[in-house]
Amino acid sequence: MYPTQHLYINGNFLDGEGRKSQPIFNPADDKVLGHLPHAGSADLDTALEAAQKAFESWRWTSPLERSALLRRVGALIRERCDDIARALTLDQGKPLAEAKAEILSCADHAEWHAEECRRIYGRTIASRRPNVHQTVMRQPVGVCAAFTPWNFPFNQAIRKTSAALGAGCTVILKGPEDSPSAVLALARIFHDAGLPPGCLNVVWGVPSEVSEYLIASPIVRKISFTGSVPVGKQLAAIAGRHMKRMTMELGGHSPVLVFDDADIDRAAAQLAAYKSRNAGQVCVAPSRFYVQEKAYDRFVDKFTSAYAAQQLGDGLAEGTTMGPLAHERRVESMTRFVADVVERGGKVVTGGERVKRAGNFFPPTVVTGMPDSSLIMTEEPFGPVAPITPFRTREEAVQRANSLPFGLASYVFTESLSNARFAADRIESGMVNVNHFGIALPETPFGGIKDSGMGAEGGQETFDGYVVTKFVSEMSSPY
Ligand code: NAD
Repeated sequence: MYPTQHLYINGNFLDGEGRKSQPIFNPADDKVLGHLPHAGSADLDTALEAAQKAFESWRWTSPLERSALLRRVGALIRERCDDIARALTLDQGKPLAEAKAEILSCADHAEWHAEECRRIYGRTIASRRPNVHQTVMRQPVGVCAAFTPWNFPFNQAIRKTSAALGAGCTVILKGPEDSPSAVLALARIFHDAGLPPGCLNVVWGVPSEVSEYLIASPIVRKISFTGSVPVGKQLAAIAGRHMKRMTMELGGHSPVLVFDDADIDRAAAQLAAYKSRNAGQVCVAPSRFYVQEKAYDRFVDKFTSAYAAQQLGDGLAEGTTMGPLAHERRVESMTRFVADVVERGGKVVTGGERVKRAGNFFPPTVVTGMPDSSLIMTEEPFGPVAPITPFRTREEAVQRANSLPFGLASYVFTESLSNARFAADRIESGMVNVNHFGIALPETPFGGIKDSGMGAEGGQETFDGYVVTKFVSEMSSPY
């Protein structure tokens, strides 16, 4: 059964009574799973007041206490993994095994933040006078408004909440209305782990209305958004108007450089697996494939056969390795990308048309022969279309990789240390993977450059966005 969805405000789970609501669909069969209540402005005001009041005490809790809470959260995530994953597959579409992997990785995130929040250090600076003491303190920034998307609903919510709460901030979180269950399950976990009322609030609504209301409120001191570049820029403009701090995890269009000297079979198999994860709806999915000339035909061949072998189906069905796209909008985008390739003289090697059945199914698709100016080479695909194109020299490959405004993740496959170094040093992206997929761990920073955002989540940097620096200069006795 799909769980009933609520708002979570000031420690209370509120139902839809008297509130606007929207249906929640199963992307595998278009059936309605339930209804999601929207927060009205009175609800948002209650959440703002509750978060502010809670901040006044939560900020003074000891890091040990916050750490213990995050550990309990980690334990409850492991305990409830199966139920959360099942509901996530129902409202988001990804195969159950992927949903479980997402949930379990979040236990790891909670536990790592539990350890790391005990290490938010300040520093002392030697003074110019013997009776003056200079200290740099790092204090929680205050009430945070967080906006998280639908592709990894649990993961993106835990990253933001564990960093904010671990630093001593409180949070109002607007999760993804298309796939809400995992975010509400997370709120339940924090509630049951003993988080005081008001420290975390979960609201739903029309995204632009909720975000504008929250960002404009003087109570909110920081915003954190994960989602597309255009929406990120809109929110950044509003935040700028109100001088709010921000962390932005935005879209990408990750280049993949496969050199002649790479282990081509291994690269093709690994990349087909990364590309099919969550049906390509991953901000760091490999999405522009540049393959060196000599290896090109072999790579296209090997990649296509591994990629086309994905078993498409309902994420809950045995054997499914690729589920439906999360909503109809993505299917329309995939159709548009493929039509544009064909119009520009390119070729569809496999896939290319929506699957004729209920739900938002689009097959693994490989396209070749399109120019770099085609839509699929310039817009974030966020779906299962993979464009492959040849290159000659490493200088050319890096130049083409850097030609877009995005800068999130990148991939390099080579057996040459020189090629690996050359590319890793020059590619303009926040994360570079050489010969494997090695990012998004709790202990490593995750974030983009250029239009792909600012700030990092995870790694030592994880609390930087949630603390402010305060300098204190004390004279112990006046001379
Ligand atoms: P979209 O741009 O409408 O929405 C993306 C996300 O932002 C959704 O979760 C949505 O609820 C939220 N959102 C939209 N407008 C908002 C606003 N004014 N205030 C606050 N939140 C808002 O696109 P979509 O069709 O839902 O998703 C497709 C695009 O989103 C993709 O092309 C991809 O670039 C991007 N995306 C990126 C990530 C990521 O991890 N970086 C995740 C999901 C979606």
